Amino acid sequence: MMRFVVAILALVLAAGGAGAAGVDKLYVIDCGWAHAVDQSRWSPGVNVGVPIDISDNCYLIHHTSGAFLLWDTGITDKVAAMPDGLGGGATGLTWHRTQTLVDALAEVGVKPEDIKYVAVSHFHPDHTGNVDEFPAATVLIQKAEWDFAMAQPNKPFSPDHPAMKLDGDKDVFGDGSVTILSTPGHTPGHQSLLVHLPKTGYVVLSGDVAHFQSNWDNKRVPGFNFDQDKSRASMARIAQIMKDKNAQLWINHDKPSSDARQHLPQFYD
Ligand SMILES: [Zn+2]
Repeated sequence: MMRFVVAILALVLAAGGAGAAGVDKLYVIDCGWAHAVDQSRWSPGVNVGVPIDISDNCYLIHHTSGAFLLWDTGITDKVAAMPDGLGGGATGLTWHRTQTLVDALAEVGVKPEDIKYVAVSHFHPDHTGNVDEFPAATVLIQKAEWDFAMAQPNKPFSPDHPAMKLDGDKDVFGDGSVTILSTPGHTPGHQSLLVHLPKTGYVVLSGDVAHFQSNWDNKRVPGFNFDQDKSRASMARIAQIMKDKNAQLWINHDKPSSDARQHLPQFYD
């Protein structure tokens, strides 16, 4: 028995020494940006009438098993061909894109068919604009989000897309390196992503659990969120995880912090 335990221990140590299984690369991809005429859309009563520019990131994650996971897909690649951007409507936002997501992936030699999972924080078009560019990938989405999104007149992507519909958290690779966190409130089945990197440590990719650093710091909830109480509970949940894991929070739409981060082809490890 003792010999068996020692043998197992030796195996575990050898695996650790050779580079443990897990995530070895996290790329931040510029998936568009928008000019908004009034930022109080996200902070009711605060900064009324003050314009703001917001970032829109996608994140490409490489697991040592060889699998690629894409977290969010940004605003539709079609915007890259629109010189004046995509705007109008009640939201007061005009969207721009300097490069398509598919072209950005090609820069690091990744083809759409190489993507195993497309995990989406929620169904809004600035996060699901390019899901259908990855028809062979499995979409990782909360069942509550899928049901709500697919009941809309304008579906965010094909309802025939392969999908794994989740009910809560999901340890995607079974080794704790990529964990989907259920963080409802912004939408019925909103989710965030906890990623563990060997050197960088733990990072929480926000989705839209908060939109800006100031909103996070002050725990402000946008007026259009689906559920105000759940939005606050999800922010509290993320804050606790950051404490427990000593994790950073990367807020997707916060342009100053996004701009300061290294982007593809550079990566975090
Ligand atoms: Zn968004």
